[in-house]
This record gives sequence, C-alpha cells and structure tokens, in this order.
Amino acid sequence: MRHLPYFCRGEVVKGFGRGSRELGVPTANFSEQVVESFPSDIPTGIYYGWASVGNGDVHKMVLSIGWNPFYKNIKKSVETHIINTFKEDFYGEILSIVITGYIRSEKNFNSLETLISAIREDIEEAKRQLDLPEHLKLKDNFFHLPKGKKH
Ligand code: ADP
Ligand code: MG
Repeated sequence: MRHLPYFCRGEVVKGFGRGSRELGVPTANFSEQVVESFPSDIPTGIYYGWASVGNGDVHKMVLSIGWNPFYKNIKKSVETHIINTFKEDFYGEILSIVITGYIRSEKNFNSLETLISAIREDIEEAKRQLDLPEHLKLKDNFFHLPKGKKH
C-alpha cells in the first residue's frame, strides 16, 4: 500500500471515551495536529506496526485510522493499541510508531460480540505479520541506531 511504512511521533492525548478500555483494548490517541499531518488520502481502517512510549521498549501494535465522532466524522482519528500490558496510563508521553501493514477497512458491527471478536482477530493477525522478516526489520531500523554509530 502507498504511504507504508509510515513513521510518526507525537503526544498521547485524551480520547473521546468510546469505551476502548472497557472492550479490553485501550487505544492511545494522537492529537488533532498529529492526525492532520497524515496524508489526507491514507485509507481508513485497521493497520499494524511497531510502537514505543517515551524511551521504552518497542512493542507490536494495531492501529485504527477512523472517522472522529467528536468532530461529526469530518476529521480522522488515529488510535494505537499497543500489544503489551502497561502498569500505568501514559497520557502526555511521546508515542513513536511505524505503521508497516494494513489489515482491513473500517466495518460496522451489529453486536458487541462480533466487534470484540474482530478486534481479537486483528490483534492475532498483527502478531503473525509482524514476525515476518520484512516487518521485523522495521522494528530495529526505526527505533535503534546501528551499533557503533552513536552520536
Ligand atoms: P481515551 O478515550 O482517552 O483514548 P482509552 O480507553 O482508549 O481512552 O484508553 C487509552 C489510554 O490507556 C492511553 O492513552 C494510555 O494512556 C492507556 N493505555 C494503557 N495501556 C495501553 C495499551 N496497551 N495501548 C494503548 N493505550 C494504553
Ligand atoms: Mg483511545
């Protein structure tokens, strides 16, 4: 897909309480300013890649680019679910991501159960894809400087 891999870094802001956490998948939201910096023609849907909070470890992530209900769906939102259990919230911290692949377009679900099972499948698909060499290499290239080249 065009635009990928896509690198992005920005502050984690408060979302609009769509209840992501209640579904067991908290999503770290980027600010409106960061979202505006995305290519305007990047398709909405579910993506995967790598993520790091502050200077922390790099983890697998799934990401949704969707329409933001807070702005009557005229603006996009970008939300990252990091596949890791954190001890605490990290609002205000800098989230660095690289988006490496695309899973599917946005869908409407007619029940909470089908939504939750789709999210679980997205997470499993992301985990599998990210173990492939072409995606693994971006984990190292983006987040770590090559050894011996510190500056
Ligand atoms: P909001 O509507 O404010 O985005 P969420 O229910 O989506 O609320 O929860 C998101 C927040 O949860 C993140 O901003 C972050 O501080 C925290 N969080 C804890 N664990 C994770 C995780 N694994 N992935 C993403 N965010 C997490
Ligand atoms: Mg959120």
